[in-house]
Amino acid sequence: MRNCGSNCRRSVKFVTVCRLRVTLFPVPKTLVINEIYLSLQGESTFAGLPCIFVRLTACNLRCSYCDTAYSFTEGKKQEIQEVRAEVNRLAEPFAAKTDARLPLVELTGGEPLLQKDSLSLMKALCDDGFTVLLETSGAHDISAVDARVRRIMDLKCPSSGEESRNRWQNLEHLKGTDEIKFVLGTHEDYEWAKAKITEHNLAAICPLLLSWVHPLAPEQQDKSLKPVPPGQTPISRQELAERIIADSLPVRFQVQLHKIIWAPEQRGV
Ligand code: SF4
Repeated sequence: MRNCGSNCRRSVKFVTVCRLRVTLFPVPKTLVINEIYLSLQGESTFAGLPCIFVRLTACNLRCSYCDTAYSFTEGKKQEIQEVRAEVNRLAEPFAAKTDARLPLVELTGGEPLLQKDSLSLMKALCDDGFTVLLETSGAHDISAVDARVRRIMDLKCPSSGEESRNRWQNLEHLKGTDEIKFVLGTHEDYEWAKAKITEHNLAAICPLLLSWVHPLAPEQQDKSLKPVPPGQTPISRQELAERIIADSLPVRFQVQLHKIIWAPEQRGV
């Protein structure tokens, strides 16, 4: 092999200078953010509490019932410190009124874990003293998330059209402070969730949420969403509640509180 001589030495020098510049002037960490707003937490064991939502842009799934398709592409690049400052600004009015650190802060999406710097944001918000929640699809590795974060992880049921994306290895990383959420729209989803709860002894890991799918408003029905697979029978809210009781399932039934308080298609609530 021929030695390229002085060119190589020049590139070594160039790389060294670049490294020095990166060390002296680190590139700020950024995220693509869809929206940040203060509202009430509508789901999980934290439902009803004031919560600041940080919605991150992009998701690589297309669940049939997704009500935040606008977050797939809409967003603006922001430095982590800007996001952190905005969260602290929104939280300021609560500061003198409670010992417990409210509001909560939730990273949601889209899928927050698609952006690696979301890990740094969660750590920074924990350092600021917030109770930080992460809503994740369950399709990505959750093991690197700060241990202080409450991870609310979906297990995608058949009617989502995304069942094959469940990353089952995540179960071994869940703790008692995390939560597993099943979003159910059909009787087949219910039977599937019930079977998985038994098969993996999920109730021994953390709280389990069974969330009834609120039908999408026409403007929320993005064309890219997966269709509900054939052979599925819709389940009503009442039927779901009654099945849980009849089967003595150790779960928490939930509806999306924000869709009862505000119009189901309203953003920023
Ligand atoms: S995981 Fe599914 S429901 Fe959540 S943002 Fe992505 S497509 Fe929507």
